[in-house]
Amino acid sequence: GSSAPATDPEIAEKIANHPCYSAEAHQFYARMHVAVAPGCNIQCNYCNRKYDCANESRPGVTSDLLTPEDALAKVKLVASEIKQMSVLGIAGPGDPLANPKRTFRTLELVARDCPDIKLCLSTNGLTLPDHVDRIADLNVDHVTITINMIDPEVGERIYPWVAYKGKKYTGREASKILSERQLEGLAMLAERKILAKVNSVLIPGVNDEHLVEVSQTVRGLGAFLHNVMPLVSAPEHGTVFGLAGQRGPTAQELKALQDSCAGVDGADMNMMRHCRQCRADAVGMLGEDRGDEFTPETYQ
Ligand code: SF4
Ligand code: SF4
Repeated sequence: GSSAPATDPEIAEKIANHPCYSAEAHQFYARMHVAVAPGCNIQCNYCNRKYDCANESRPGVTSDLLTPEDALAKVKLVASEIKQMSVLGIAGPGDPLANPKRTFRTLELVARDCPDIKLCLSTNGLTLPDHVDRIADLNVDHVTITINMIDPEVGERIYPWVAYKGKKYTGREASKILSERQLEGLAMLAERKILAKVNSVLIPGVNDEHLVEVSQTVRGLGAFLHNVMPLVSAPEHGTVFGLAGQRGPTAQELKALQDSCAGVDGADMNMMRHCRQCRADAVGMLGEDRGDEFTPETYQ
């Protein structure tokens, strides 16, 4: 199973009504994503940028971009219509922390007007260390970092480049910078008791044999939950942009890897197994998407 019970009361409180952090909560609480963050500062080989960020969201889907003000209006409407709405997440359509003005403006507006809603965001981690204090000040409870490798030799097959402090890096250097920043950011979150979930995209033949080591490393740095997601390979939709001919894992391969990361009786790592790879504009309970009910006409 997933989501082992937390013994620390502060942590238990944080996971109790977040549908992604608690397999139990996902039957009772709803989340919504608002798509306010268009840009990205890295290139993943499985992303062609026409679609939502594939690190947290469903591949091959394009969400309509909202302004922070429209996002707030939508959050208020959804919260009034769906009583189980407990969490607002920013997960795309690009990297939320590559768009800090739009992302933090949205979080500030929602914190101001909807103080009961928990805040959540996902990121590739490249600029995370720069933003951890602001994330903590805003009481963002949950952060997801996508970590596909801790070894730049593996990373260079996943990331053709990263743009860092005004410069574009390629090859192993790019992955070395990305990895250092991800792990630094993760440790900073843990120090502040912000719950960190790590997503990893399982790419057969590229990082499959490496992800157990990734899982142990992120656990050691304080990650609360590890979510290994399958690469969704649909070349006709361009979902594996720079990995020509790359297949996704079978369901058995995914489960075997999740089991290896979990260890015997889940002793090694707390694994998430109910992720639905939601859209960047998903609304409702996990597994049901009510986004179509909340078109711009209904809240603008
Ligand atoms: Fe695409 Fe997300 Fe990777 Fe950026 S971080 S390239 S948006 S999958
Ligand atoms: Fe939760 Fe996974 Fe959906 Fe994110 S993509 S909201 S972790 S179920």
